[in-house]
Amino acid sequence: ERLANDFQFLDVGRQDPEKKDARTRSREFTEIYAPYRPAEAASQAHRCLHCGNPYCEWKCPVHNYIPNWLKLVAEGNILEAAEMSHKTNSLPEVCGRVCPQDRLCEGDCTLNDGFGAVTIGSIEKYITDTAFALGWRPDVSHVVWTDKRVAVIGAGPAGLACADILVRNGVKPVVFDRYPEIGGLLTFGIPEFKLEKHVMKRRRGVFEEMGVEFRLNVEIGRDVQMAELIEEYDAVFMGMGTYKYMEGGFPGESLAGVHKALDFLISNVNYNLGFNANPADYVSMQGKRVVVLGGGDTAMDCNRTSIRQGASQVTCAYRRDEENMPGSRREVKNAREEGVEFLFNRQPIAIIGDSQGRATGVKLVRTRMGEPDERGRRRAEVVPGSEEILDADAVIVAFGFQPTEIEWFEDHSVEIDERGRVVAAEQDLKKELHFAFQTSNEKIFAGGDMVRGSDLVVTAVYEGRKAAEGILDYLNV
Ligand code: FAD
Ligand code: SF4
Repeated sequence: ERLANDFQFLDVGRQDPEKKDARTRSREFTEIYAPYRPAEAASQAHRCLHCGNPYCEWKCPVHNYIPNWLKLVAEGNILEAAEMSHKTNSLPEVCGRVCPQDRLCEGDCTLNDGFGAVTIGSIEKYITDTAFALGWRPDVSHVVWTDKRVAVIGAGPAGLACADILVRNGVKPVVFDRYPEIGGLLTFGIPEFKLEKHVMKRRRGVFEEMGVEFRLNVEIGRDVQMAELIEEYDAVFMGMGTYKYMEGGFPGESLAGVHKALDFLISNVNYNLGFNANPADYVSMQGKRVVVLGGGDTAMDCNRTSIRQGASQVTCAYRRDEENMPGSRREVKNAREEGVEFLFNRQPIAIIGDSQGRATGVKLVRTRMGEPDERGRRRAEVVPGSEEILDADAVIVAFGFQPTEIEWFEDHSVEIDERGRVVAAEQDLKKELHFAFQTSNEKIFAGGDMVRGSDLVVTAVYEGRKAAEGILDYLNV
């Protein structure tokens, strides 16, 4: 009996949660995976080998106690699993949905050697969704409130994670965001087919019950000045993301019918949420031949949003090969199933238009893979004489984001690096007294995309949590 249990992975294969068929899901802005049923979750969790030194835990950026909560799920002990999963992660139901698990925890699961990794992400999502549905809430009854207050700028994953740790330690976080809802890119970026919006609404309620205060529709630097926050609060955390659009730098980018990726995605979210102040802001790809330029998560989301809006054809052109794409492999597979066509090793050199200034196509050249760059990704080299034109009614440029240029940084002595990222680190051995993620202004801390450059939800969560620890140390709480 015991042997059969320990070797469950021999009898039970990896089974992802049921996925809607591609035809149905390509018309819907809803999540494509069904939740696990309790018996499925338990049986999949039971596949874990409980390796002595779990690689999954090391690879997970927040170092979740994965084998421990898998064991609790296998035993049907969901509330304890939720309690444990929140010890390391402030947004486990979100990470379970959107982490590129194939590159993180699941990519390092020992069972990849021929058996199929444990479905760690789906189980992480299952734990929190189920616990919340059962009425479980993080227990903050033991918290003793201090008189300290911290202003958090940005209600994205970094800001929320920082607020989570502060409130659990009796420090009052007041979170400011220029948007009308919390979540940052989780709400105004990542589309519903990966993360439905009610997930963040529910999280907002949970955080508010815990004692986090949100002041939304407030932009720091416009509605409230940074100087006021520094004056009024004991410390300030900045988790403001990266929002400067990266241009392709080729002719034709300002033609009508050429869209910036995030503007396109936000217009779609606002349309679905009924937030569009002006209906003319909604960009629809219905009936259009769409070309998406780029190969990351943002490009994939633009592809799949265009399909759902009823585009007649969606082609994604990427300058490297499939192996060197930065986005999650799972999302590329999903996009392909939904009808997106991929053109690899193609680099755009111009967007061409008609006499009325409307885009009609993209001029591409072929590339071949050269030597690896400083991040280990192989460079794309142009093949001479390989130009071709791809017809298009709309073009979406999804080359990523750079840190936003913020003029008030200088007034407050916030140092940035040569790439515009705020300088803050978990450790700084050069400084005698250093607090995690403290900037060059001792009262200001920072984390997430604005420190790392555009990255992942889970890394923003990690830095927000660590910065909160730095703030607690700084405030001597
Ligand atoms: P953000 O999420 O950008 O939040 C910053 C917040 O600060 C925003 O709400 C903004 O309104 C607010 N803010 C900025 N300036 C001010 C100001 N002056 N005053 C008040 N508020 C301000 N990552 C994954 O792990 N998986 C994915 O599948 C994935 N898909 C993605 C898809 C898209 C389209 C995009 C764009 C990104 C995706 N990412 C994904 C990356 C991920 O969303 C980010 O890395 C993460 O959200 C960064 O968190 P953050 O808290 O640093 O910043
Ligand atoms: Fe895996 Fe992300 Fe969850 Fe960590 S947070 S266990 S990397 S899904």
